[in-house]
Amino acid sequence: MEMTACRRCGTPLTPTGPHAFQCANQHPIYANATPTVGVFFVTADNRVLLAVRGIEPHKGMLDSFGGFLDGDETFEAAASRELTEELALTPADYEPLRYLTSGAGQYPFKGEVLPVITVFFWTRLTTTAALTPRDDVAGIQSLPLCGLDLSLLHDQDIQLGIQALQRLFPS
Ligand SMILES: [Zn+2]
Repeated sequence: MEMTACRRCGTPLTPTGPHAFQCANQHPIYANATPTVGVFFVTADNRVLLAVRGIEPHKGMLDSFGGFLDGDETFEAAASRELTEELALTPADYEPLRYLTSGAGQYPFKGEVLPVITVFFWTRLTTTAALTPRDDVAGIQSLPLCGLDLSLLHDQDIQLGIQALQRLFPS
């Protein structure tokens, strides 16, 4: 992650470790990954619903539903908010979110490659209502988990999530 100046005093940073820096005033600064959340919907016949990305980077590639956490938001709260923003869903529309796995990724964002750490959940829809893609989701694809082509997925963290789902629902 790009780190050039101390966020506390603005003086230049010197690396002190792989993800650690220090400024002239001995302020320790850590370049940790940015937390994000992803949700997969699994159907009774072992298909997964994925988002078609409507924005760059990787517009048109497949993604989980979700996104960046806001401030001190929990992963669960962020997942719920994102499902409302991206699909107009309320928690009554899906079963309680189940933890799946976590994975590191690289997200090109505003001119830099941002390291992200994504916590993934999976769930099942409880309603048959048509999903309404909106916000940064251009569409929805339903694909069989078995044999899913990982190169369709926009980042390594999503690939790790799908691989965890495939282990959970072997065909
Ligand atoms: Zn400083």
